[in-house]
Amino acid sequence: MTTSILDALGASSGDDLTPMLLAAWQKLIVNRSQPYAVQQKDGSYRWVEEQCTRDLLAAHLRGEITLALASADAQGGCKWVCLDADTPDTLPQLVALRGVLMKLGMPGVLEASRRGGHLWLFFAQPVSAREALLAVVQALALARPRLEEWGLPLSPLEVYPSTGAAGTAGTLAHAMRLPLGVHRLTGERYPLLSATGKPIQRPSIGLQLRWLLRQPRIRLQAVQALGQKRLQTLSALPPQHARLTSPASLWTPPAALAVAPAPVTPAPASPATVADDSSSAALAEGMIGTHSPVIRWVDAHISPLDLLAEYFPDSEMKQAGRGYLGWCPFHDDRAPDDRGRPGRPSFYVVWDRRYGWSWRCLSTNCMQSLGPMRHAFRLFQLLHEVSPSAAIRLAAARWPLATASPENAVPTETR
Ligand SMILES: [Zn+2]
Repeated sequence: MTTSILDALGASSGDDLTPMLLAAWQKLIVNRSQPYAVQQKDGSYRWVEEQCTRDLLAAHLRGEITLALASADAQGGCKWVCLDADTPDTLPQLVALRGVLMKLGMPGVLEASRRGGHLWLFFAQPVSAREALLAVVQALALARPRLEEWGLPLSPLEVYPSTGAAGTAGTLAHAMRLPLGVHRLTGERYPLLSATGKPIQRPSIGLQLRWLLRQPRIRLQAVQALGQKRLQTLSALPPQHARLTSPASLWTPPAALAVAPAPVTPAPASPATVADDSSSAALAEGMIGTHSPVIRWVDAHISPLDLLAEYFPDSEMKQAGRGYLGWCPFHDDRAPDDRGRPGRPSFYVVWDRRYGWSWRCLSTNCMQSLGPMRHAFRLFQLLHEVSPSAAIRLAAARWPLATASPENAVPTETR
């Protein structure tokens, strides 16, 4: 790639993508330049085992091709995190979330998408994906209750790079369609959005890009401070859970769950790892009030399989090893992956004699794969898409026994 070719391209197409601008674009967005993915007419992506040159990055901006690039580099580092909301009409939540994250030192850039929106979090310098995700999980945990107060509960988000890529050198992280490109399926260029959710309008693609490059980036100090708080929250756990406080335990799923994409029949988890996960679930999710006897009653008495059968029969849960596997209600696991391989069921439910029912998604593309295993109440809440307090009211109405006796409401498993 020489400057003269770029100049010639710029001149011939009459646009304002100067070499300096393209260099800044490349520096902002490219985690690893090989491979890159190209969107096909049907909206799917194909990996190309070649260098993603500045010519290609320019072609994306001009709408000639549409690129998706890996969300982490080969060493597990990343320059950005992208929060992907696929739920329609979710823009008000994303606008509010952007505002809260900004106050936490995590400014972001909103982009409309085909089904919802993206919130791009650009770092001032590359960070490890693991460090970035610790900060993002902490920021989301702080933001969630505020958004609920405002009546804008967060819908399910997918986070890229996903936990599976975090700190895993050598794996190819999930690709993300770059901003400012044309979606091949719809032919639309989804706009960048202002802090109030209004499309950023500029007369040329170069000026749009300049606007994007001027937006504030997240400083390393903010990432580290939020990550530290996340770890402190975990180290405040009771002594019997002390071994859960190591940073590694946050990101290391039990052996049976570590395989991504999801195996059709996961190997049985050892009782020890399942126990770790379930107990940390109770504690980590404790911030949204496991003090409620209703939550404890639902967790102890209601099977996630029954909830799925009622609210999301499409999950088609089937026995797989010690647990059950089916289609995930929270992300599209039926879609082929970036390499064109067919989708696989990724929603995992398991019962343990001591810890009862728990569940999580096994796909690293899914927000519900982040963090510890969850229990039935959380599933009930997510399937209703309501705040925890609204879900408590719904559960109390649905299962009067849950409020009958506080004594009976405490499951023996949690004593
Ligand atoms: Zn999922």
